[in-house]
Amino acid sequence: MSTVIPIRAETSGCTDVVPLVERGQREVFCGLTGIIWLHRKIQDAFFLVVGSRTCAHLIQSAAGVMIFAEPRFGTAIIDERDLAGLADVHEELDRVVQQLLARRPDIRLLFLVGSCPSEVIKLDLSRAAERQNQIHQPAVRVLNYSGSGIETTFTQGEDACLAAMVPGLPSPAATALSNETAPALMVVGTLADVVEDQLRNLLERMGLQVSFFPPRNSQTMPAVGPHTRFLLAQPFLADTARALQARGAQHLPAVFPLGVEGTTAWLQAAATEFGVTPEVFEQATAAPRQRAEKALAVQRDMLQGQRIFFFPDSQLEIPLARFVHRELGMDLVEVGTPYLHRQHMAAELAWLPAGTRISEGQDVDRQLDRCLADAPDLVVCGLGLANPLEAQGITTKWAIELVFTPIQGYEQAADLAGLFSRPLKRRLKLAA
Ligand code: SF4
Repeated sequence: MSTVIPIRAETSGCTDVVPLVERGQREVFCGLTGIIWLHRKIQDAFFLVVGSRTCAHLIQSAAGVMIFAEPRFGTAIIDERDLAGLADVHEELDRVVQQLLARRPDIRLLFLVGSCPSEVIKLDLSRAAERQNQIHQPAVRVLNYSGSGIETTFTQGEDACLAAMVPGLPSPAATALSNETAPALMVVGTLADVVEDQLRNLLERMGLQVSFFPPRNSQTMPAVGPHTRFLLAQPFLADTARALQARGAQHLPAVFPLGVEGTTAWLQAAATEFGVTPEVFEQATAAPRQRAEKALAVQRDMLQGQRIFFFPDSQLEIPLARFVHRELGMDLVEVGTPYLHRQHMAAELAWLPAGTRISEGQDVDRQLDRCLADAPDLVVCGLGLANPLEAQGITTKWAIELVFTPIQGYEQAADLAGLFSRPLKRRLKLAA
């Protein structure tokens, strides 16, 4: 019998860490950015940003790659108006939606996405969504959430979007014989389709049925209720998790599926909950796990002992730090995160080396000073900080790439490591 599950014994690591809390100027994208990956996932949805020309510009340039596709996002531009003009704005919005839906009958789910210009803040978008629902039901469902830079950093846009969908998820149909439904697994968080397929395959090989939220199509929303056990696939979904728990669902605490060890532990959390035997678990995971370990070893040679500094950006920082330290042997100089959700991060913090410098929030000037004084080999940061740091001779990696690239699961572990080794290789070549 093989029971090899390559997870090192738990230590308390950074469980009781007191982070350096900073509340100063931040350098991050707003929550509108989430539309870039959300619109690719839910294929019959449309994201209508209610905002300014700045918002339209951000979305257009960030999603420039989609130029050949029929876009599933747009901006209703609200120009400067006073309160007296707001009635017209509602009418205008109704007209824009009407035109959009007439032109695009494939849209079944429409999101009105709020932004931060003061004209938009004055608008009650939930009322607007309610009104639109009355007009367009049952063909189209209209929801609203905020992607405003005042309220959200860039990955929180996804959290707000998913949380807005939760109240509308169907309840499970009770079985014919009882009011109870068997426990069911739900994976929560937007994943690239290729990653979703791989994880589904692994879980099904353990005999587990799994639903993914968000789904690829709004007509196949998963049911949620007290029978639901959910695993988070992304670390930035605090509001979504809370909304699911309000529907009775139970969160399965786990590290996130980044790296070989992380993916194994994440799968193990589901296996344990559903009583999968160690033999079945081993059979399902051994081959992809060993392949991934081999591929990772090549990257480790390059990254071992390199010092890395994370600026707070995507909320992926703590799981990434755990991965690069434990599986690639990198040294953690500072790990910044926009928010520290202790409950969702508990397993991750336990796996960080004790004494890691963790910062929460940002005071960008002070953090830059610390970073320059520490002179790390690699810095993971937002686009706005990369150029100034590169100009000072520091090698950088854009945090946003780690969100746009499929990085979860066994097959992606080496690619994820490659995202860290590539800038270092480039720097070496330039220096040669
Ligand atoms: Fe800028 Fe706010 Fe629009 Fe985001 S929502 S692009 S921060 S104006």
